[in-house]
Amino acid sequence: MYFFGGNIPILTIVVPCYNEESVLNETTIRLTRVIEELIMDHSISKDSQILYVDDGSIDHTWNTIEDLGHSSPFVKGLKLARNVGHQNALIAGLNIARNQADCVVSIDADLQDDVEVIKEFIQHYQNGYDVVYGVRQERKTDTFFKRTTALAFYKLMKVMGVNIVNNHADYRLISHRVLNCLGEFRETNLFLRGIIPLIGFKSTEVYYDRNERFAGESKYPLRKMLALGWEGITSFSVVPIRFVTYAGFVFMFLCLIASIYILGVKTLGHTASGWTSLMLSIWFIGGIQLIGLGIVGEYIGKIYKESKGRPKYIVELDNYSNPNRINQAIDSKKNKILVKI
Ligand code: UDP
Ligand code: MG
Repeated sequence: MYFFGGNIPILTIVVPCYNEESVLNETTIRLTRVIEELIMDHSISKDSQILYVDDGSIDHTWNTIEDLGHSSPFVKGLKLARNVGHQNALIAGLNIARNQADCVVSIDADLQDDVEVIKEFIQHYQNGYDVVYGVRQERKTDTFFKRTTALAFYKLMKVMGVNIVNNHADYRLISHRVLNCLGEFRETNLFLRGIIPLIGFKSTEVYYDRNERFAGESKYPLRKMLALGWEGITSFSVVPIRFVTYAGFVFMFLCLIASIYILGVKTLGHTASGWTSLMLSIWFIGGIQLIGLGIVGEYIGKIYKESKGRPKYIVELDNYSNPNRINQAIDSKKNKILVKI
């Protein structure tokens, strides 16, 4: 297999950072240790790197990254012009890593994820896996609130028909070809946890216990968590639109039951004049309107899917196309054109 690094793959560890000045020194020490051990084992190339993406921090994160870059051959930095959020910062890092890395590990800066697991990631990569998901085994260190909301989020995503790996955040390894495929998804709102399983290829999971944040505080308050959840659902699923249609049918059914009751009351003569027709109209028109909205929504859902322009399939191996033959065919066509002229 050909690697950027010759016989040995180059690993880039992408780390999005937002106001992380208090952890970066320790993160660098621990990640460097892992990289050095892997280099000694000849598992990764000595050109492997740590890429810190400064997501518009307002503290000294960028200065720290620059200092670390001067003192360590492994540390590189990318500074974004403003804060764009964890997902986008990660995507920025993955995009530039694509030009020189054979595999990429993404990890948070705060050392909550066990860095030793990267060695297992690399082992799986060498055994032919293109995607290795880091899955949190225990969430003991998370607050009760965070644990339950996270669980509810995974459940909700499943109900909405989005295929995501339970208890997996963005700690994972992906191979160069998966990175390339990621580039084919041109949608603006890339929700990586949903897209990576969608790409396919051979994948596996590695379990680990999640630690406390090394220093600093969470940059994911409830507001950002809800925004990520909403983003995940609305950029993957048209199920919420379908709920409108379902609600319409439920209303129509209720209308049927209500009409029996309403007509019954009318027959018994207990109603004021106009009540019967008013009640029936409300239920009926309500149902019709919801169904109508749902139908319009279905078409909008289709437009939305089309507008994403996602690849319809991704080829893993191709034994049919012969690059030489294709080039010959192109050449012969060119010749014919030349003859015609
Ligand atoms: N982060 C980022 N941009 C943001 C918010 C967070 O790059 O706008 C980074 C942050 O520096 C960290 C990772 O995303 O490396 C995860 O954030 P955090 O650890 O605060 O989230 P939590 O673990 O509390 O969910
Ligand atoms: Mg964290």
